[in-house]
Amino acid sequence: MYCLFFYDFETTQDTKFSDSATGHFPNLVCLQKFCSHCEMQPDISVDCERCDKRRHSFYDDPVGHLLSYLCAPRTWCEKVFAIAHNAKGFDALFILNRAILMKWPPKLILNRLKIIRMQIQHLTFIDSVSL
Ligand SMILES: [Zn+2]
Repeated sequence: MYCLFFYDFETTQDTKFSDSATGHFPNLVCLQKFCSHCEMQPDISVDCERCDKRRHSFYDDPVGHLLSYLCAPRTWCEKVFAIAHNAKGFDALFILNRAILMKWPPKLILNRLKIIRMQIQHLTFIDSVSL
């Protein structure tokens, strides 16, 4: 059994590092999930008997809330896959930074400096562009 999470970070760019450089800081993450029980249900607003509510948004500490949500106990789910479009150049970097802060050693598959796949414990983060 598996659970698929599709996520996307939105960021602010109003924090300046210098006169010409600003940083991206996540202020929202939206996610939708599918399990093997509900993956054929096309209406995401319909809750799943197994995985419950299938659409979420987190505003406060979106990286931390996303990781907490992905790590929530799901006895029916053996593998968790989190997929983002262009994760290799953007979304996965926020996850990697938090994993390093939390001292969670990630296993990385890289293409040059881009993160193609990242494994942290039972969580696998995948770049949809690289599938
Ligand atoms: Zn489900």
